Amino acid sequence: MYNIAIDGPAGAGKSTIAKLVAEELSFVYVDTGAMFRAMALYMLRNGVNVESEEDVGKACNSIDITITYADKEQQVILNNENVSGLIRTEEVGNTASKIAVYAPVRTKLLELQRELAVKENVIMDGRDIGTAVLPNAQTKIYLTASSKERARRRVEQLEQNGIKSNIDEVEADIIKRDEQDMNRKIAPLRQADDAKYLDTSDMSVQEVVAAIISQYNIDKQNK
Ligand code: C5P
Repeated sequence: MYNIAIDGPAGAGKSTIAKLVAEELSFVYVDTGAMFRAMALYMLRNGVNVESEEDVGKACNSIDITITYADKEQQVILNNENVSGLIRTEEVGNTASKIAVYAPVRTKLLELQRELAVKENVIMDGRDIGTAVLPNAQTKIYLTASSKERARRRVEQLEQNGIKSNIDEVEADIIKRDEQDMNRKIAPLRQADDAKYLDTSDMSVQEVVAAIISQYNIDKQNK
């Protein structure tokens, strides 16, 4: 199977770009952030103390996450409930980042992520895909942009989902989330040595998609 790994900080445009590349190459798009978000939703709903690794670890035993596809759109199923429409809030995103530092959370999702990648040609996005989940991915991309630009894009995305937000607060959240994701002990966000670095601050969506497809074409010939 051919695997494309896309990593990068919050709001870098990973999901928008990965969806378009998946369509162009007829790959399956796997959004791993959604899995962490579904686990975060469980913690929030059940009042689990997310400051406690022990409490979060215990809660993990009551959580079952599966992935299905409807019209090529990934659906996240949390204990038999499709929660895809409930996980896009900043609260859920920030809680996801908090619990993503704990080993039981990451171990639980790692297996599911790898299973998906052996079954299909996938383009998978997240924070540790090129470094930890799929270290043998044939194409690896590190996608980033300035925090200002990422905040601007996030606000726009939230607006499309009917959620109003303040750009300065969103940028502050993004910086805090970057810090959490880059400095955790297990599987921190970092560029894999063999990943292509793409700063998209001044690139259009189409330019980024084209850059990734061209990297894929180079890698396909070389590997
Ligand atoms: O990408 P998204 O904003 O949906 O991810 C939510 C949070 O889940 C991230 O801030 C990160 O802490 C965590 N995450 C992770 N590893 C991944 C994907 C997401 O730790 N592969």
